[in-house]
Amino acid sequence: MFADLKNRRVLITGSSQGIGLAVAKAFAAAGAHVGLNGRRRPDDMEATLGTMGAAGGEAEFFAADLSSTEQCRSLVEAFVARFGGIDVLINNAGGLVGRTPLAEIDDGFYDAVMDLNVRSTLMVTRFALPHLQASAAQSGQSASVISVGSIAGYTGGGPGASLYGAAKAWIHNVQKNWVNFHTKDGIRFNIVSPGTFDTAFHADKDEAARARVSAGIPMGRFGRPEEAAPAFLFFASNMASGYVTGQILDVNGGQYMP
Ligand code: NAD
Repeated sequence: MFADLKNRRVLITGSSQGIGLAVAKAFAAAGAHVGLNGRRRPDDMEATLGTMGAAGGEAEFFAADLSSTEQCRSLVEAFVARFGGIDVLINNAGGLVGRTPLAEIDDGFYDAVMDLNVRSTLMVTRFALPHLQASAAQSGQSASVISVGSIAGYTGGGPGASLYGAAKAWIHNVQKNWVNFHTKDGIRFNIVSPGTFDTAFHADKDEAARARVSAGIPMGRFGRPEEAAPAFLFFASNMASGYVTGQILDVNGGQYMP
């Protein structure tokens, strides 16, 4: 179904676990060349890369803390040095950092949330831009930037998550500008916006809290990371979505309907 993803060079930020890792495995299974990233190389990464290679793809891990602009630059440089260019960028690194009510937000918390969610998306995209332009010019096919938004980008986020929700709304919004001014470069921009997925993101919730959240989801349960992955394959594939840009695909079991 996504045959054109074979040999595409795909950089996925924040893919050492959770949704990003599931997405990386799905691209590897489609025969893509995949770059994984996290702050630190997990102990079992060698085995993970081996499995992904056996599935038909080629994968490499690049450690970089994307809260830092310099490390956003070095991640892009390392990926390009390894694979020769970038066809698809997936801006997945992100998270709550913590839950802090408005009355307690300080500069350190503000910087941590905005650096992880906004700076990383902005700067990795910025440094990847010339490579995405080159990919489109050389192949005659659109390159893709797929960012990860959130249900919180619409709703404002749960308790103590105001900055996280606003950071995801920023991602939902900045894409409109990128579509208006960089479609001419042969790049499509789309967003996958998860609802509630069963990852470390929700490690702070006990069984009672999980049950309360599940009760508010028409499908009655959290999503599994592998259930998010096909939305990314869809946006990356020009066969599947060649005329789709500037969109947000909500993968949320019906939890929110914009
Ligand atoms: P997760 O915590 O399991 O994964 C986060 C990933 O980001 C990890 O691979 C981690 O290594 C990486 N990361 C964290 N800080 C980093 C940094 N400074 N530099 C580089 N990488 C870093 O959570 P997840 O649920 O898989 O989250 C993936 C994306 O989905 C995030 O953008 C998150 O905001 C978004 N999201 C998740 C949910 C959910 O319910 N799980 C809902 C909406 C949006």
